[in-house]
Amino acid sequence: MPLEGDIILDLSRMDRVLELDEDTMSVTVEPGMLLQDLQAYVEARGLFYPPDPGEKASSIGGNISTNAGGMRAVKYGVTRDYVRGLEVVLADGTVMQVGGKQVKDASGLSLKHLLIGLEGSSPSSQSACCALFPSPRPRSACLCRMPT
Ligand SMILES: Cc1cc2nc3c(=O)[nH]c(=O)nc-3n(C[C@H](O)[C@H](O)[C@H](O)COP(=O)(O)OP(=O)(O)OC[C@H]3O[C@@H](n4cnc5c(N)ncnc54)[C@H](O)[C@@H]3O)c2cc1C
Repeated sequence: MPLEGDIILDLSRMDRVLELDEDTMSVTVEPGMLLQDLQAYVEARGLFYPPDPGEKASSIGGNISTNAGGMRAVKYGVTRDYVRGLEVVLADGTVMQVGGKQVKDASGLSLKHLLIGLEGSSPSSQSACCALFPSPRPRSACLCRMPT
């Protein structure tokens, strides 16, 4: 809820995929992209973005800001585990890049993890690089009861 003097940013039109990089198994998107659209985009290419909170029409920026989980978190982890890099805008307009596309990113302070899950009390993210997996093979389960 905005209080007096607060600024509201509507990022819903920043909803594009900026880059799909299958070499690094990552996708870079704008923060207004909806989770359901990202999932559909990668699944159409045989890839898989595991974070899956119940609200599929939530935005990737919102997922990152709330570190969203969902049922798949039991097996795969939460949004934090899939954010490789962020481009954020600080309150003074400075654009800052934290992390990147690579898996190996262990030098310096891990500011990326400080920014994930800040529930809006953070700089605004303007792009996010997320890790992908190959799509899991379809599985089915069947329960058989033996006659006694
Ligand atoms: C029906 C339903 C089911 C849900 N199920 C689950 C679940 O199973 N597991 C789970 O973990 N969560 C669940 N949630 C919570 C859900 O994950 C979050 O509400 C959602 O991720 C927030 O995304 P949003 O686009 O709605 O963000 P908003 O509500 O628009 O924003 C949420 C916060 O993020 C901030 N924010 C948004 N975008 C940015 C940005 N680009 N940069 C910086 N800050 C930003 C906002 O300022 C705000 O503080 C559920 C929610 C609903 C409504």
